[in-house]
Amino acid sequence: MKPTGVLFFPAFDWAISPTHPEREERLLYTRDQLFEEGIMDMPEIREYHPRLVTAKEISRIHFCVPDVASRVTQAHLVSAGSALVMADAFMKGEVKNAFAIIRPPGHHAMTVSHGNRGFCDINNEAIMVEYLRQTYGVKRLAIVDTDVHHGDGTQEIFWHDPDTLFISFHQDGRTLYPGSGFVDELGGPLAYGATINIPMAPRTTDAGIHYIMDNLVLPILDEFKPELIINSAGQDNHYSDPLANMSFTAQGYAILNQKLRPHIAVLEGGYSVETALPYINMGIIMAMAGIDFSNLREPDYEPDKFTESSKNMGYIKSLVKTQLANFRNREEVIARNRRSGKEFESVTKSIFYDTDYLQEGQRIDLRLCPACCGFRRMESSAVQADSRRYTALCVSLPRACCSACATQALSIYEDMKSHSKYDYLYLQDRIGDKFRTFDCSTGQETVI
Ligand SMILES: [Zn+2]
Ligand SMILES: [Zn+2]
Repeated sequence: MKPTGVLFFPAFDWAISPTHPEREERLLYTRDQLFEEGIMDMPEIREYHPRLVTAKEISRIHFCVPDVASRVTQAHLVSAGSALVMADAFMKGEVKNAFAIIRPPGHHAMTVSHGNRGFCDINNEAIMVEYLRQTYGVKRLAIVDTDVHHGDGTQEIFWHDPDTLFISFHQDGRTLYPGSGFVDELGGPLAYGATINIPMAPRTTDAGIHYIMDNLVLPILDEFKPELIINSAGQDNHYSDPLANMSFTAQGYAILNQKLRPHIAVLEGGYSVETALPYINMGIIMAMAGIDFSNLREPDYEPDKFTESSKNMGYIKSLVKTQLANFRNREEVIARNRRSGKEFESVTKSIFYDTDYLQEGQRIDLRLCPACCGFRRMESSAVQADSRRYTALCVSLPRACCSACATQALSIYEDMKSHSKYDYLYLQDRIGDKFRTFDCSTGQETVI
C-alpha cells in the first residue's frame, strides 16, 4: 500500500500582524501534535519538503499588479510551491494521496491581485490546478472547499471554466465574511452548474454536513467524473473556532475526508489554534492514510453535545434538492446562453480587500463563443497600499480556447499598446504557456 504524502510548512516567520489570527504560531500546536504522535515516522506517511513556486506558475492563474514580486513574500512562494510538491508526489505515483499543511492560505485570492484579501494574496489550489494541467495534462478536476468561509477567490478564478467543478460548504454569507456563496451563484454563462454553493445556517452540526455530503456532494462528483478531487481543507467549521459559528467536530471532519477521498488536500483556515486545529489536522492525516482515528477526540469533546434541529434539517434537505436540480440542468442552460446572440457578456464588480483595505473596480467582458468557453478581457483599477492608483487591462485565454478567440484576444492586447489609458497590460496565454506584461509608461514588455 502506498503512503500518504504530508508536507508541513508552518511559515513561522510570516503573519498578517502580531495580534492577527493568521499569525506565526497558528500551526505551532499542530506541529507539537504531529511530533507527539510520531506521525511523520509512521510507515503510512511519507514526508515531503517544500520548493518555491515560480512567477510563471503563478501567472498561469493570476494577474499580479504590477508584478508577482510586489504581491508575494517568500512565505507565499513556499506555501504555493508546497502544493505543487504534493501534486508531483501524487501524479508520479509515489503516494496514494497527499496533504499540504501550509500557510499563508489562498482561497480568497482572485484572478487579479492588488493585495491581500481574507488573509490571501495568491491562490494555492488554483495555481496547483493549472500546474496539473500544464505538467500532466489533467483536464477535469473538482475542488471541494470545506472551509467555513466561502471560497470566493477560487470560485471567481474558475467561474468560466466548465472543466473545474467548484463546490463550497460554508457558513451563510449573510452571517460571515466574505458575504457571498449563495445558492444562485452557479458559474458563468458557459460554465453554468460547475460552481455549487452550499450556504449553511450558523451552528450546523456534523449531522447536517454529512447529509449534504451523502446526498449532494458525492452524487455530483459521481456524475461530473473529475480525474482528481482537491480539498481546500479549512478547519474553521469547528465548534471552538473563534472566527465563525459552526458546530463541527474533529471526528466529523475526519469522516468527511474519508467519504470525500480527496487526492490532494491543501490547508486553508482554522483558527482554534490550540484546542481544535491540531486534532482536525491529525484526523485528516489519519483518514487519508487509513489509520484508525476513532479515538481522536478534542480535550473538551462530549458526544451528543450538538444535535441538529429539525428546522435546520428541513432547510438542508430543500437546499440539497435545489442544488442537485441546478447541477443536472446545467447543459440546457449553457446551450441557451450560447444561442443568446450576444457577442460579449459584461459585468462590473467592486472587490473589497479587507486585510489591506483596498477597493478594486473591475469590468469583465466574456466572449460568448459558440465554439469554446470564451476568453476574458478584464479592466481593473485600485489604489494600492503605496497610495498609487494602478489601472490594468488583463486578457485571459483559457486552455481550451478556440483559434478565433485566441486571435481576437491577442489583437485586443496588441492594440492597447498604443493607448495610454492603462498603466499595465497583461496577456495570459495558457495555450502557448506565455505570460506577457507591457508597462505602458516605459513601453517595455516582459514575457515569461
Ligand atoms: Zn476560513
Ligand atoms: Zn472561442
